[in-house]
Amino acid sequence: MRVILIGPPGSGKGTQAELIQQHYGFPKISTGDLLREAVQEGTEIGNKVAEVMKAGQLVADEIVLELVKARIFSPDCQSGYILDGFPRNLNQAWLLERIDGQRQEIVLEILITLEEISRRLSSRRVCVNCGAVYNIIDNKPKVDGVCDLCGSALIIRDDDRPEVIKERFRIYLETIKPLIEHYSRKKVLFQVDGQRPVEEVFKVIRSIIDQRLAIGQREVSS
Ligand code: AMP
Repeated sequence: MRVILIGPPGSGKGTQAELIQQHYGFPKISTGDLLREAVQEGTEIGNKVAEVMKAGQLVADEIVLELVKARIFSPDCQSGYILDGFPRNLNQAWLLERIDGQRQEIVLEILITLEEISRRLSSRRVCVNCGAVYNIIDNKPKVDGVCDLCGSALIIRDDDRPEVIKERFRIYLETIKPLIEHYSRKKVLFQVDGQRPVEEVFKVIRSIIDQRLAIGQREVSS
């Protein structure tokens, strides 16, 4: 099983991926997180992509694929995995199918407006040290500006700034259409209303995954 989450930055993909991971036990793979880790650790890849990411632009397909490849063939991904932020264009979808094409696939497209995204991202804060995510409106840390978990400072991610949010949304709309058409043709695409509260969105996602898993099991046993 492979669950692919598609949606603009701030649509709640990461949160839903986390919930799917907890419920079904498939590991969540976020290319944004893998790239940010590489930047923080100052690896060769990290140094190459730092500026591109800061500007909200997409990193080259081969670089992202290299990180994904290393991760999806790990033993913990054997029975399934969740992709958050990959593929982001048609070429990446083809590359993924070339390296791991036999899996049952569910693609969840999270639908949300730019207004709602701007509202969410402008209040998001992340810990510089452990990466914990807060929201100064509905998920505040105990002490302003300080991480509950490790006591380090909370910051606004460079690419969560308003001008960058708009640019990331524009790039998303520009690149996503062919990808959506591709998955729609494959009949693996499901659209989910992302404006609703987290638990409601997850309920919808769970019913989609449960249904597909049941179909997969019936196909295996017949
Ligand atoms: P995210 O956390 O998914 O919003 O990703 C943050 C940034 O990482 C993006 O704005 C891109 O610069 C880069 N990135 C993440 N995933 C990909 C991908 N699949 N292809 C290209 N760039 C990516």
